[in-house]
Amino acid sequence: MLGGMSSLDSNPAGFQLDGVPSVFARVVVDDFGSRVFDYSVPKGVVVQVGARVRVPVRTRNVLGTVLELSNSTEVSGVRPIASVMSGEPALNPALLKLAAWMADYYCCPLEAAIRSVLPQVIRKSEMTHQERQVVRLIQVPSEEGRLALQSRAPLQAAALAALEQAGTPLPVTELTKLSDATHAVVRALERKGWVAVEMERMERDPFRKEHFVEDQNLTLNPEQTIAFARVCATLEPLQEGSPVPKPFLLHGVTGSGKTEIYLQAIQRVLEQGRTAIMLVPEISLTPQTVERFRSRFAASRHEVAVLHSHLSEGERHDEWHRIRSGRARIVIGARSAVFAPVENLGLIVVDEEHEPSYKQEEAPRYHGRDIAVLRAHLERCSVLLGSATPSLESFHNVSIGKYELLEIASRVDDKRLPYIRIIDMRMESRNPVISGKLLTAIEARLKKREQTILFLNRRGFSTSMLCEKCGYVCECPNCSISLTFHRGANRIVCHICGHLAVAPSKCPECKDPGIRQKGTGTERVEDVVQKIFKTAVVRRMDADVMQRKEAFRETLSAFKAGKIDILVGTQMIAKGLHFPNVTLVGIINADLGLHMPDFRAGERTFQLLTQVAGRAGRGDVEGEVFVQSYTPFSPAIQFSRHHDFTGFWEQEIEFRKQWEYPPFTHLILIQVRSVHQARAEFSIQTLARRLGENLPPEVVLSEPAPAPLEKSHGQFRFHLMLRTKAILRLSRYVRGVLDKMTFPEDVIVTVDVDAYHLL
Ligand code: ADP
Ligand code: ZN
Repeated sequence: MLGGMSSLDSNPAGFQLDGVPSVFARVVVDDFGSRVFDYSVPKGVVVQVGARVRVPVRTRNVLGTVLELSNSTEVSGVRPIASVMSGEPALNPALLKLAAWMADYYCCPLEAAIRSVLPQVIRKSEMTHQERQVVRLIQVPSEEGRLALQSRAPLQAAALAALEQAGTPLPVTELTKLSDATHAVVRALERKGWVAVEMERMERDPFRKEHFVEDQNLTLNPEQTIAFARVCATLEPLQEGSPVPKPFLLHGVTGSGKTEIYLQAIQRVLEQGRTAIMLVPEISLTPQTVERFRSRFAASRHEVAVLHSHLSEGERHDEWHRIRSGRARIVIGARSAVFAPVENLGLIVVDEEHEPSYKQEEAPRYHGRDIAVLRAHLERCSVLLGSATPSLESFHNVSIGKYELLEIASRVDDKRLPYIRIIDMRMESRNPVISGKLLTAIEARLKKREQTILFLNRRGFSTSMLCEKCGYVCECPNCSISLTFHRGANRIVCHICGHLAVAPSKCPECKDPGIRQKGTGTERVEDVVQKIFKTAVVRRMDADVMQRKEAFRETLSAFKAGKIDILVGTQMIAKGLHFPNVTLVGIINADLGLHMPDFRAGERTFQLLTQVAGRAGRGDVEGEVFVQSYTPFSPAIQFSRHHDFTGFWEQEIEFRKQWEYPPFTHLILIQVRSVHQARAEFSIQTLARRLGENLPPEVVLSEPAPAPLEKSHGQFRFHLMLRTKAILRLSRYVRGVLDKMTFPEDVIVTVDVDAYHLL
C-alpha cells in the first residue's frame, strides 16, 4: 500500500558506490520545470519505476517520480535517494507512458503531465489512511477463570462479554460505550492475552449514507443487441500479438438506450475479472447516470468508485487507494478519471463524447476522450465512445476507417422523437421574450399537468445596460465585454472575471434616468413566465441559484416529483436528464452561440439544440419542442429540426474540408497575454517571426491578431493559429522554438494543441 514514506536514515553519511553493482534511478522532480536528475538507490532499498520518492536537490529534499532504472549513469557524484514512498508505485508503466505521450503531444512539461495523472493529494502527501483502534477477542477464559474475573475485575469481565456477544472486533470507542470499560481495562485484557488491539483502516465513503436499490439488466431490443454484440466480441482478453480492437463510436439518438449498453458491457468486463472506466462530461450534472450505475452494481456496491470535484481531500485519497488496490473495479468520473490507477483495464466508456468539457482548459490542455482512446490503445483494451450528436472529429475517424460505427436509429420502445417547431422571431411584434405560440403551448401543458423546460444558455436578467440617450454601455473595467444585470442581487456582473458593482439607477455618464436593460437572461425568463402564469410553480436552475452543493439535487428531485411546473435553466439542464413528464421544451434563443467567431459555432449549436430537444417526450406522451430564432434558416437549426445528423455532417464536413479546418487538420492556438498591451503585441509578433523561420512545409501559420475577447481579467490578449496534418511534428517544433525564447516577465504564453476555445 502506498502509505507513508519510509525513511532511509540508516545511511546518513551518503551511499558508497565502491565496486558494488549499483542501481540508479532517473527522477523527474516536482516544481523544477521538468528537470530530470539521476540518483543512486541505496542497498537494500526497493524502488520501482513510477514510484514517488524524496530526493535531494541542492540543499533541500523534494518529491519526484522515478522514470527509469539503470545500471549506469553518466553523472559523477550522484547522491542517493532520501526516501521512497512505501508499497506499490504510484504510477504503473502504462500511466507513466501516457504522461510522457501527453507531454509530447500537448507541448507541456513532463512534470505537468504527471501532475494531471496523479491527484494532488497523492503526489504531495505522505498522508496515511485514517485509522482507528479495534479490539479483537483472541481467547475466552475458562468458566472458572471467568467467574474469578467477574469477582476480581468486573469491568474486564463485562468487556469480554460484550466482545463475545458482538461476535466481531469492536472499535475501542464503541467497546468502552458498551461495557463501561476504560482504556486501562482494555490494556489489562491485552496483557492477559485474551484480546488484541489492532489498527484498522477507516475509509471515508462519500456514499455511505445512501442506499441503493439493486436493479436488473433490461432485455436489450434488437438494435441494442447488435451494438452490444459487437462490443462484446472485443471484450475477451487479447492474445499476444493480435491487433487492438478499433475504438467504437456508438451513435444513438437521445433515449435510445446507450447507457444500458454501457452498463451491460461493463458488467461483462467485471465478470472477466477486469476493470472499467466510465467518463461522463460533468459529474455534478449527471447525477442520474451515476445513480443508475450504483443501483445496477448495488450488490457489489464497493466496487464502484466515483471521482468528482466535490470530494474532500481525504475522500479523494481513499477513493484513489481503493482503485489502486483493486478493491474498486469500476470508476465513474469526469475527464480526469481517465487517469484512474486501475490495473487490468477491459473497457473505457466515454459518454457524450462530443462534450467540450472533456477538454481541459489549463496545461496540460488534454482532451479526455482522446486520452481515453490512447490509453485503451496502450493497455490493449476496448474503448466505447457514445453520443447522440458525435463530434465531427470522431465521425471523421469512422469515415476514414479508424473507428467502428455502431448505430441505434430509434428510441427505446420506438418512442417518437419530439416534434420540433422553429419560431421565426422576426415575425413577432414587440420583441417578446416568449413568442405567442410558445405561451399557448405552455398554457396547454399547465392545464394537462405536464411539465415544461425553458432553456436559455445565459444567466442573469439582461445581457447589458445601455443608456438610450447617450449610448453608454456598462462595461467591465478588466474585460472587453459588457456587464450583465442580475436583478435579484441588484448587481452588474462580469461573466468573464466576476467583477461586480451595484447596478446604476441612472446613466453614470449623462445622468439620464432612462438607462435600460437589454437582452435576456434566465432571470428575466423566469420573471416573465411567472408574471404570465401566476399560479404555476416556476423554478430556475443556473450557476447563480445552484451555488449550494445540494441545491441542484433538490431542484431536480422536486422537478421529478412533479412539484415544479416550469423549469428555466442554462446548459445545466441540457445534459442527460430523464424526466418522463416533460412534454414541452422551449429554446428561448437558438442563435446565441451561432454567431461566435469560432469555426465550431455551427457544430456546437446543432449539438446543443439536439440535446435540449432530447429532454422532451421521454415518457408515454409525445414531446414537442419550440425553437425561437432570428436566423431560422441557418443549417444548424434546420438540421436539428429534422433530427438529421447525417445531413448536418455532410454539409459541415464540406466546409471544414474547404477551409482545411479540423478534423482535416490539427490546430495549435498560441496565446500571448499581458497587462501591457504593447508588450503582448510585440511578443506575439516576435514569436510569429521565429515560428516562421524553419516552419515545416505542411504547416499553415496565421497572422497574429488580437483575440476575439481582446481583454480579459485586465490582460490584453493576442493569438496566432497553426494548422497541420502532422501534429506531433508541429508540437515538437513549437516546443523547440519556445524553449529558445525568453519573454518579458509579465507576458504569459500558452500553447493549446487541438484547441476548443478560440475566444
Ligand atoms: P440514452 O443513454 O441513449 O439516452 P438510456 O439508456 O438512458 O438512453 O435509455 C432511455 C430509457 O429507456 C431509460 O429509462 C432506460 O431505462 C430505458 N431502456 C433502455 N434500454 C431499454 C430496454 N432494452 N428495454 C426497456 N427499457 C430500456
Ligand atoms: Zn471582467
